[in-house]
Amino acid sequence: MLPDWLPLTATLAAALLTAGFRRHRLFQCSVLMVLMALALTKADPVRGTTSALAFLPWLFAYAAIMPEARWRARRSAFWLGALALLLVLSQYAPAHVLRALLNIGLAINPSAHPGLGAAGLHALAASVLLVRWILRGAFFDAAGAVLMLAIAAVWTQVGSPAAFAIWLVLAAALTMLLVLVGSYRMAFVDGLTGLPNRRALDETLDRLSGTFAIAMVDVDHFKQFNDTHGHAAGDVVLREVAALLHKQSRGKAFRYGGEEFCLLYVDGQVDHAMDGCESARTALESKPIRVRSPNAQGKPGKPKDVKVTASLGLAQRTEKRKQPREVLQAADKALYKAKGQGRNRVVQA
Ligand code: GH3
Ligand code: MG
Ligand code: MG
Repeated sequence: MLPDWLPLTATLAAALLTAGFRRHRLFQCSVLMVLMALALTKADPVRGTTSALAFLPWLFAYAAIMPEARWRARRSAFWLGALALLLVLSQYAPAHVLRALLNIGLAINPSAHPGLGAAGLHALAASVLLVRWILRGAFFDAAGAVLMLAIAAVWTQVGSPAAFAIWLVLAAALTMLLVLVGSYRMAFVDGLTGLPNRRALDETLDRLSGTFAIAMVDVDHFKQFNDTHGHAAGDVVLREVAALLHKQSRGKAFRYGGEEFCLLYVDGQVDHAMDGCESARTALESKPIRVRSPNAQGKPGKPKDVKVTASLGLAQRTEKRKQPREVLQAADKALYKAKGQGRNRVVQA
């Protein structure tokens, strides 16, 4: 048996953490989980769970499916207003009204388990979020989907308060875990390309030992590309370059910043560093990338295929330059040479 105070404490902690990390949607879900925990503590548990079941799933589904809103957006105010209204209703509405609401909304078949309708609604919200995640790849859409499924599981325990409490605590713990994992990703993964970012590279370099090689990669004439095709097309190109470096370079790719990338070759990979750089470069120069430049009205125009090239500077750890940052500097110098020699080439330091 869980201590009575645990569900409320865990859900409140989830609400505090999600608010602190500015994860609006998970915060809204946490507030609703606090209400689920409060429903458990009601003197009349039937009224508690009935009113929770009658209202909360709809608010969950709304919070989950609407795009993440700003804190002071009108949509957030509407959600809070609805929450306040339903809270008042759940306190003061006569029991038969609550039951009727529940029957209309969720338990179409009154003999079915009362939590099943709510669980179904959450599963539906989870699938909307999953589709959005498949289309856009945003971590917090997937996180929302996972949380919706967890809360669906909590609802299936309505009627046995002990199991309900355990599942609720698990859902609150999951929420906190998702916020922390998501924030870790935001700190170390580049949002545009999905590659590990500069901070991840810095930490990797700090831990580096043994033999290694570093290549700096810079897209050629990229400012001109942006000026000609627009910034959005430039972003598409950066994503393609990143994917290609990840697949073809035979090393570990990082986004260094802007249109610059870094390739890291450790122990077993060092011998293939030059080959990897060269094959990534040739793959890029021949790869058509489909972009849509804006038309005269600034709207995305017809799709067309473009090509870009990149210059690379490669440096290995030697007796003279042992520190990772010295090697990186040498790679940067070699890159500068590659630019000077006419671009679209690999120069080894
Ligand atoms: P070079 O061949 O000498 O490297 O010339 P360059 O034009 O590529 O170099 P420069 O440093 O002058 O310009 C880099 C450009 O990269 C400028 C900036 O608009 C663009 N850029 C940097 N980050 C991003 C980004 O995230 N998205 C897009 N679309 N463009 C970016
Ligand atoms: Mg540059
Ligand atoms: Mg450039």
